[in-house]
Amino acid sequence: MDAPYAKLEELEPGIARVLAHNPSAFTYYGTQSYLIGTDQVAVIDPGPDLPEHVDALVAAIAGRPVAAIMCTHTHRDHSPAARPLAQRTGASIIGCAPLALETVGPRADASFDGDYAPDRVMDDGELMEIDGETVAAVATPGHTSNHLCFSYRGALFSGDHVMGWSTTVVVPPDGDMAAYMASLDKLRRRDDRIYYPAHGPAVTNPQQYVRHLVGHRMQREKQILTLVRERQRPIPDIVASAYPALDPRLTVAAGGSVYAHLLDLERRGLVQRQEDQWKAA
Ligand SMILES: [Zn+2]
Repeated sequence: MDAPYAKLEELEPGIARVLAHNPSAFTYYGTQSYLIGTDQVAVIDPGPDLPEHVDALVAAIAGRPVAAIMCTHTHRDHSPAARPLAQRTGASIIGCAPLALETVGPRADASFDGDYAPDRVMDDGELMEIDGETVAAVATPGHTSNHLCFSYRGALFSGDHVMGWSTTVVVPPDGDMAAYMASLDKLRRRDDRIYYPAHGPAVTNPQQYVRHLVGHRMQREKQILTLVRERQRPIPDIVASAYPALDPRLTVAAGGSVYAHLLDLERRGLVQRQEDQWKAA
C-alpha cells in the first residue's frame, strides 16, 4: 500500500506522526505513532514492535530527551514497541494501566499485549508536563477497559476510542458498549479543536463527528432490537441482517459488536437470551 511508512510527518508545530507498517482490515494503513513537543518530546502509541518502526521513531526523536512513552491502550498494534523504545531512549512508559487479564474469566484474547508493563499509570484527569506544556489523561473505557485519550494544546489523541476511518470495534468481555457510549458522551462535552486518532485521518470537526458516532450506535441498537422483536435469533443471523455488505474479514468483529449491544440491552432489561438465541424481553 502506498502510504508514508517510517517517515516523520509534521502535522502542526510540536505535533508529528510516524506511520507503522502494519496495515490490516482493523488498522487501516497502520498505527500512527505521534511525537509531541519540540525540545523535549513524548511518544504517544509507539505501536507494534516492528524493528523498522522503532528505528523510524528513534530517528524522528533525533536525540532529543523523551519525557514519556505513552500508550492509549494495550492492543498489540499500540503498545508492544514501548519496551524496546524505552530501552533505546531511557524514557519511562507512562499512561494506560495494564489489563487485569483474569478478572471475570479471561478478559483478553491474542489481540492484547500481555507484556505491557508501565512505569507509571495515569488516572483520569491526571496531568503531566511535556516540553513546558500540559498533557492530560482522559479515561475513555469502552473499546478496551483501560483506554485513555491524551489532550495536549487543544488536540486530543483519541487512540482507538474515536478513529478517523471507521467506527470502533467494541468486543466483550473487555469491550463494553455502555462504557463506550458514556466515553463518547464525555468527549461530546469537551471542546477539543482536533482529534489525532491512531488509525485514519485527523478529525477536524470533533463535536459533529462524535454526535455522528453516537447516532450511528443508537441506530445500530434500534436495528438489533427490531430484529430480535421479529423473532428470536442467534448472533450470526443478526450480523447477516444488520451488516449486509460486510467485509468477510470483519464478521467476527461485527459479531463482537452485536454481542456488546445485546449485553447492554440485556442489562437494561430489553432483551433476554436462551442459550445462543436472543429475543425481546
Ligand atoms: Zn485497539
